[in-house]
Amino acid sequence: MKKTKKIVIKVGSNTISNADGFVNEQFIESLCKDAVMLMEEGNDVIIVSSGAKIAGISAINKWSRKADMHYKQALCAIGQVRLLASYEKSFSKYDYTIAQVLLTRDDFFADNRVLNIRNTLFTLVDEGVVPIINENDTVCVEELKIGDNDTLAAYTAMLWNADTLIILSDIDGLFDKNPKEHSDATLVEVVDNVEAINIEVGDTNEFGTGGIKTKLDAAKICSDYDIEMILANGKVDNVIQKIYHDEIKYTKFLP
Ligand code: ADP
Repeated sequence: MKKTKKIVIKVGSNTISNADGFVNEQFIESLCKDAVMLMEEGNDVIIVSSGAKIAGISAINKWSRKADMHYKQALCAIGQVRLLASYEKSFSKYDYTIAQVLLTRDDFFADNRVLNIRNTLFTLVDEGVVPIINENDTVCVEELKIGDNDTLAAYTAMLWNADTLIILSDIDGLFDKNPKEHSDATLVEVVDNVEAINIEVGDTNEFGTGGIKTKLDAAKICSDYDIEMILANGKVDNVIQKIYHDEIKYTKFLP
């Protein structure tokens, strides 16, 4: 990863939340510190962050039980502001500016939009701003959604011609079977052909959306576009620095 220049970091819902369902501010601080380290070393960074709904629930807890889609979308609208405020607070300590980019599925498949988004992302990064991307849950109807941020991150990596996508989850990487159910599951450190992978894809966690399946789908998109993908444990302190200095184990999907 040391030669990498353009890095997309995706943060999952389970990584960004505490056990009690609140946004983990300490994690955001540590992530921002790691991202700054990467940028100071000459890399460009884009972050794809989940967590709007969780931040919304902690703001307006009385809505959390309402299954109505409008409440869910309203929670995301409330939470997105809070989430980005946390990123802003952390990045501003290092004098970095952030930008919010909210995308939907169509944005990646309509030629005129793709070009616009690409240009905006390139402009932001060229100017030293850190784009923080999320799905635009408030305007998305279910059928038009990408639906999970692993895929959104892979599309972003594709659109921006990234070299590496780092997906941070609550697990050390890809295991030969679901480690939450099998204590003898072993970590797969290198995947050289993601199309040939045939393993059990268990459920997601409480706040997770895609589980390991969408991470494998993201790896397939990356592989098609010659992008390396890393799946690592965001619960490890300063995980990105540790990946960078080869101090922890994780899964690397070769392009
Ligand atoms: P996130 O919110 O980070 O995207 P998810 O809950 O959606 O997290 O997905 C990660 C979870 O996928 C892991 O915590 C684990 O329980 C589950 N999982 C199922 N099968 C596997 C596997 N073979 N290897 C790794 N994780 C797996």
